[in-house]
Amino acid sequence: MASFPTITKIEIQQVSTVMKDIGNPPGQVSATYIPGAERNIRFYMTRMFTDAGIVGEYAVNSDISNVAEFLIGRNALEREFFYNEMTRYPGNVFGSVDLLLWDIAGKYSGQSVSQLLGGYRKRLPTYASSMNGGVSGGLSTPESFADFAQQCQEIGYNAFKIHPYPRPKLQDHIDAILAIRDRVGDDMDLMLDSFCFYRTFADALKVGRACDEANYYWYEDPYFEGGSAELGHRKLREFIDTPLLQGEKVFSVQQKVNLIVSGATDFVRGTIPMNGITGTMKLAAAAEALGIDIEIHGCGPAQRHTMSAIGNSNYYEMVWVHPDVECLQMTNHIYANYADGLEEIDANGEVDVPEGPGFGIEYDWKWIDSATTGKKVIQ
Ligand SMILES: [Mg+2]
Repeated sequence: MASFPTITKIEIQQVSTVMKDIGNPPGQVSATYIPGAERNIRFYMTRMFTDAGIVGEYAVNSDISNVAEFLIGRNALEREFFYNEMTRYPGNVFGSVDLLLWDIAGKYSGQSVSQLLGGYRKRLPTYASSMNGGVSGGLSTPESFADFAQQCQEIGYNAFKIHPYPRPKLQDHIDAILAIRDRVGDDMDLMLDSFCFYRTFADALKVGRACDEANYYWYEDPYFEGGSAELGHRKLREFIDTPLLQGEKVFSVQQKVNLIVSGATDFVRGTIPMNGITGTMKLAAAAEALGIDIEIHGCGPAQRHTMSAIGNSNYYEMVWVHPDVECLQMTNHIYANYADGLEEIDANGEVDVPEGPGFGIEYDWKWIDSATTGKKVIQ
């Protein structure tokens, strides 16, 4: 056996499950709360085996089988090698591979990923990142957004974000922005995520002015297309006071840094499924050197470990919470010792960082096997 863990085998289980009461409003690509609807979700429970007897495990959102033959036989600790070889062009695959490599590195050294990264934060301030605006029930009117913000405040959250799309009327978005601030008072940080929904600069500006009026913490991905127009966003920043958060919809670390240095954003988004932990730590260091904060997209064990090792980051995103439906429940099924969800914060509005080697996660393989709809083994 070599003195490093050599990758010997990759096992991929495609897991399919159904989220109830989630669907697409007519003519919309964005899913939201629709009572009675069903939405299929699919992810890939992936295991990377090594000759050291250590197995890297993570539920990733891409099928890495097309790079499995490239991975097998290589040193699983050489994350920079894989970063160099696999990020020549954008794609989801590197991020998925990188998560498995970090789990192996942690387990091989007997440390958590947080520890390997030099992590020091044990608790992470968390915002409730609510589901897309709906057509009925909670999050379908300005008042229902305000009701849910208040509910989250009562649970213990110190910050709350809305995604008012795909509600088509701009005035609905503006009314929700103002109604929430009126309801929760000045002690809660509020964020708006347009998800690049607004089609014109003028609409983005109108909403930005409402964010100014309601003293929002950030205005995320304001408008078409993917936030990639550096001049347009630089102009938007000249017109409004609310800081912009951009970078979720551009793919490479260098593109994200370009948004910072061109003056197109205030905060930058870190996207672990795309850039991996390896790329996200590069972005965090670049942002820090430029005096900018990085905010990590989405929730999960990797997000927690990574944020624990970044000083210039403010909030963990407890994403897609809703007053009437528990969306995170379906992914929580895979874990035996971990959960995200509306109620999964402490009295200070914070979450913890899992302990134990690697990501410190134990999986419920009985449930995973029962939801498996396809399996690939490459060795
Ligand atoms: Mg976003």
